[in-house]
Amino acid sequence: MENVTKVYGREGSEIRALNEVSLFIPRGTFTALMGPSGSGKSTLLHCALGLETPTSGSLWLGDKRVDGLDEVQLTEVRREHVGYVSQSFNLVAALNVAENILLPRRLARLPEDRAWFDEIVERVGLQDRVGRFPAQLSGGQQQRVAIARALANRPDVVFADEPTGSLDTFMAKETLTQLRACVDETAQTVLLVTHDPVAASFADTVLFLADGRVVDRTDAPTAARVAELMTRLGAPLHCP
Ligand code: ADP
Repeated sequence: MENVTKVYGREGSEIRALNEVSLFIPRGTFTALMGPSGSGKSTLLHCALGLETPTSGSLWLGDKRVDGLDEVQLTEVRREHVGYVSQSFNLVAALNVAENILLPRRLARLPEDRAWFDEIVERVGLQDRVGRFPAQLSGGQQQRVAIARALANRPDVVFADEPTGSLDTFMAKETLTQLRACVDETAQTVLLVTHDPVAASFADTVLFLADGRVVDRTDAPTAARVAELMTRLGAPLHCP
């Protein structure tokens, strides 16, 4: 991201959700994004996903410039390079685990890749459950399906938006371990938006947003250090 600004509203009642944000997230790293409510986390994520168009500035994915693409081109970029995991797992209730995981590939009319399917299913530990339906799984298991689905297209980057928000501590840890494995085992890039210092401690780097700007960062974070920096920003802490 280079000098990305996003302004909502009209002149006179403008909200500067992002204010000249420049960010370089290296390939194969795990970055957590934190900040008080209203600091611009969702806007940043939506701009990075191409769901919002920045008012000014440029966005890159690898060496491809992605701002200013039309919807068809953006869909192609997302399909080929981007995985997305959210708080609500967004699984299709009528499809079983295998069908849910394979859905993005089917929608993209990509050929089956049996070896990759087997690998991701094994990685998230769902080998015994591929025939089950979402309602037959725990929250943590459903999130593992969502992660496997996000990996189905071998994305370069996985965006995770509060993926542990509705999980208990044990299941949250499981989910974060899976995201960590995306970086450590398959050199993918992960950007995690979270309120939880423990979740952020799984990242290599934590970036702190306030009033639409990156105001601080910490490398090799511990939960205690993250909590301290968040408190300094005046943000209420999420304690699982
Ligand atoms: P966060 O995710 O950190 O809570 P957001 O990115 O949602 O922050 O919001 C940043 C600022 O932009 C807030 O002041 C919010 O009210 C404003 N904002 C976000 N989306 C819109 C929108 N669609 N229209 C107008 N204002 C918005």
